[in-house]
Amino acid sequence: MKSWISRPVPELPGSMPQLRLFDTALGDVVELEPRPEQSMYVCGITPYDATHMGHAASYVAFDLLNRAWRDSGTRVSYVQNVTDVDDPLLERATATGVDWRDLAQSQIDLFQTDMDALNVLAPNHYIGAVEAIPDIVPAIEQLIIDGLAYRVQGSDGEPDGDVYYDVETAGKRSDATDAWSLGDVSGLGEAEMLALFAERGGDPSRAGKRQALDPLLWRVARVGEPSWPGGTLGDGRPGWHIECTVIAQKYLPAPFTVQGGGSDLVFPHHEMGAGHAYSISGVPLARHYAHAGMVGLEGEKMSKSKGNLVLVSKLRAAGEEPAAIRLAILAHHYRSDWSWTDEAFAAAKDRLATWRDAVTKAPAGSAAAVVTAMRQELANDLNAPGAIAAIDHWAADAVGNDTAGSAQDGALLSDAINALLGVEI
Ligand code: ZN
Repeated sequence: MKSWISRPVPELPGSMPQLRLFDTALGDVVELEPRPEQSMYVCGITPYDATHMGHAASYVAFDLLNRAWRDSGTRVSYVQNVTDVDDPLLERATATGVDWRDLAQSQIDLFQTDMDALNVLAPNHYIGAVEAIPDIVPAIEQLIIDGLAYRVQGSDGEPDGDVYYDVETAGKRSDATDAWSLGDVSGLGEAEMLALFAERGGDPSRAGKRQALDPLLWRVARVGEPSWPGGTLGDGRPGWHIECTVIAQKYLPAPFTVQGGGSDLVFPHHEMGAGHAYSISGVPLARHYAHAGMVGLEGEKMSKSKGNLVLVSKLRAAGEEPAAIRLAILAHHYRSDWSWTDEAFAAAKDRLATWRDAVTKAPAGSAAAVVTAMRQELANDLNAPGAIAAIDHWAADAVGNDTAGSAQDGALLSDAINALLGVEI
């Protein structure tokens, strides 16, 4: 599937120090080992309700990582999927009387326009679930042959043949130190896993499963649902975790550097993906797992059911500037849970105006130290609020500068804010 087009990233003198990032699976900040090429997979949207502020914050967070790696002189291979067929998309299409393909395409277009507006660098590969089905089917067939997946007999009106992943057998498959077993990514206990599994699309009480936490790999065709050829699996469509796993394994090295997403993807999505990948290849999926916090609205959880989604496209349609939206997001550390508020958005707009004024009045010789400070903050677990504070401090001096501003320093600051924070001033 076509991706959007990245805007140019200014080149800066010097480079980012070694990056440190919080790894969810290790529960600690780790140094990311330098490599000629870093690789990242960030889970994409299911195309309905795109792009709410939670989506935006998550993609902006991993865009900071992408920019930090590039600033350290490293190539970045970045893959993102789009779950262009799944239950919530089909349910929304049915509820609104829209063809599911039209709904998906319109929301993918909207998402890409929002990402471009927010100056999020595009992935190298943007892959839809549907186009990945020919790669997913053989992976599931192999898991069945290896005894790590099984077919469930139909009951309660469900047809025969849905395929599930056997988490317990898969977790016992190898005693290698880098092998996967349930809980390795999330660190959760069974009761927490069961609760989250039910809440986030799992089916713990499906009859015929070996364990409640076994996730769906292949859903055989139902009347009224779209389906695709599945070889020996029969016609159907893939589960969500196997979709991301197979796409990541096809387009990225094994293991790749960082698996990213919102913190609501830690379990079951990233946990199960790590298991699937190990079962398929005998190699871990990713070296590190990183997660962005959740975004609420005025202190409440943001959700369609509450009718309180803040959409980037709506703000843009109301004439709000995307650079100000991005700056409002960056005022929060990517791992924190936070709330979108009108006051904080107004403060971001004021800050942007101050910075724009400041770069025209930059004191001569003032910029290099600010760029160094920004890099140090960002290398420390992508601390954008720290980088912003360094710029604020400099800007407060600059706007009070009575002498003529240095064009050279102004240009360096402007380039650094664009290259490192993705904010065009
Ligand atoms: Zn994913």
